Amino acid sequence: MLCEKCHKSKLEIKLPYLGTGLCSNCFCRLISKRVKKYVVSRDLITRDDTVVFFDHKSIYSKISKEMLGMLYCRKLIIHKPKKKEISAIASEIKNIKELSFPVKVVIPWCLDDEASYFLSSVFKSRGLCFIGNPEIGSGKRKIRVVKLLRPVLREECILFAKAKGIKVDKRNTAPYFNGIYEPDSAAMLDKIDKKHYETKFSLLKSIDELIEKTGIGK
Ligand SMILES: [Zn+2]
Repeated sequence: MLCEKCHKSKLEIKLPYLGTGLCSNCFCRLISKRVKKYVVSRDLITRDDTVVFFDHKSIYSKISKEMLGMLYCRKLIIHKPKKKEISAIASEIKNIKELSFPVKVVIPWCLDDEASYFLSSVFKSRGLCFIGNPEIGSGKRKIRVVKLLRPVLREECILFAKAKGIKVDKRNTAPYFNGIYEPDSAAMLDKIDKKHYETKFSLLKSIDELIEKTGIGK
């Protein structure tokens, strides 16, 4: 069977919510377009920003690197993070010499991370300060956190990585940050999403509406 979009290559990817079966090239193009639209429509990264990119061994890092190439960042600083806590993001980049503000920090964070973090925070009655693309730090040294892969499912990241020849294993597909949500929230979400396959996308939409109304994470 052929790809239902280009009608040239072999149909390789068929996800229930996509509507059409795609070849890996068309699938990667679709994901790249989604990320670009997300970043551009929200002004998350512009050409004049200083962008610090958290580079490590996960597939999210490798995919983000490819996406950043597409966004033509003029000042891109590659940083290899040492700590795996969201509270350490600001201190991680504090000592970078060529840092000029405003700074954007691209972190490994996909749609599943956002949805699980949200659910977990609601169930455990914790703050929601890390939803969206929040600002951290204070005064002139404020840092905008950019979750570049926030509109992309973990499952889609894995498919994208495989299509690009990136080796995929349990370790490099696991969430990067420690303790950002309870594993049972993520498991519950996976279970619901299997039955109702647009649950995670719907949850992201609701989180965005909440951000719009409250200003948290904006
Ligand atoms: Zn195709």
